[in-house]
Amino acid sequence: MINKKIKERLSQKSVIRELAEYATARGKEIGYENVFDFTLGNPSVPCPAGYNEAVIDMHQTMDSMSLHGYSPSLGNTKVREIVADSIAKRFGLPYETKHIFMTSGAAGAIAHAVRAVTNEGEGDEIITFAPFFPEYMPYVNDAGVTLKVVPARTEDFQINFEAFLEMMNPHVMAVLINSPNNPSGVVYSEETLRKLASIMTKKQAEYGHEIFLISDEPYREIVFDGKKCPYPAAFYDNTLTCYSFSKSLSLPGERIGYIAVHPNAKDADVLSVMFGQISRGIGHNCPSSTPQMAVSRVIDETSDLSVYETNMNLLYDALTDMGFEVVRPGGTFYIFPKCPEEDSIAFCNKAKDYDLIFVPADNFGCPGYFRMAYCIDTEKVKRAIPVMQKFMEECYK
Ligand code: PLP
Repeated sequence: MINKKIKERLSQKSVIRELAEYATARGKEIGYENVFDFTLGNPSVPCPAGYNEAVIDMHQTMDSMSLHGYSPSLGNTKVREIVADSIAKRFGLPYETKHIFMTSGAAGAIAHAVRAVTNEGEGDEIITFAPFFPEYMPYVNDAGVTLKVVPARTEDFQINFEAFLEMMNPHVMAVLINSPNNPSGVVYSEETLRKLASIMTKKQAEYGHEIFLISDEPYREIVFDGKKCPYPAAFYDNTLTCYSFSKSLSLPGERIGYIAVHPNAKDADVLSVMFGQISRGIGHNCPSSTPQMAVSRVIDETSDLSVYETNMNLLYDALTDMGFEVVRPGGTFYIFPKCPEEDSIAFCNKAKDYDLIFVPADNFGCPGYFRMAYCIDTEKVKRAIPVMQKFMEECYK
């Protein structure tokens, strides 16, 4: 018999994907240039030239099996060493090869991290904070664990610590954070991370077991105003950093990322090997060879990410002028305004009549808000602003 749980999921399609499909279909009718599609988080800038050069060079100089053969199940050893050296230098923690596990993007990283620090069927819980990336639900639920969501602190989208403390209990085995955040664009401050670490340290002692911090960081390099994103692992030893090259190098289709186990984490020496065992069980084993070797050659580079800050400034100023309540993003390529009516789905449906395609935030655990992904051409952002003004004038004044 086919799997009932998975079959039920077919009726709960991703709202983001559905809206993106709608935008594409509408584009076929009226020309895609006339559809203001703010749905998908697909990077809009090319990968760095160095990445393409690395791939070409590898194809020209490496023998077929060195290039296309199976990768070791934890990832290519040289690549893991390069990743460990890079983040050790950048973040001042003594990462070694043994702490790095190569994955298929941040998605693969989180799914492995969750399974490694929980036990299925034992009532284990993972806590995350609204607004959150909706794909956390399948990553966590399919591991036989419950995801609990702390309500948002909407004034600045930092952590709602009062609600977090109320929800903490001995079943919590991990806390899952995402900074810079999809969908709010907010970067967690050092103060937030210190406070989180201090609470988790106390709770570990109180409950008598580790509480791991799973830090989802695909947007770590996309930060604005010349700032750097505080590195969560610097504040808490039991951290599993889940990274992806999808956004920083504009390589989402190559499916490559890693988990970095904090060198001082409990069981730091065995966690990567455990990830390898998890891979065996879910058939994810042996990450793709070419992309991992190619990213290792451009490990400290990024695409030219400046367009995201340009687009953010244009949208933030325009949205504020139009009277939207909105927290200024510190990074990512998302902005997360409050809808001018309570029902975000109704708001986004009305916007569709103007070919403005926004994502209602109900699935991000934050009803009443909407997300705009501005990883699109600046020229299109500029053309969208008067259309949004018209929409607001006609529907909400
Ligand atoms: N986490 C967040 C917050 C994301 O926004 C995404 C993708 O958009 C992912 C994880 C998954 O990223 P990847 O493409 O690296 O699997």
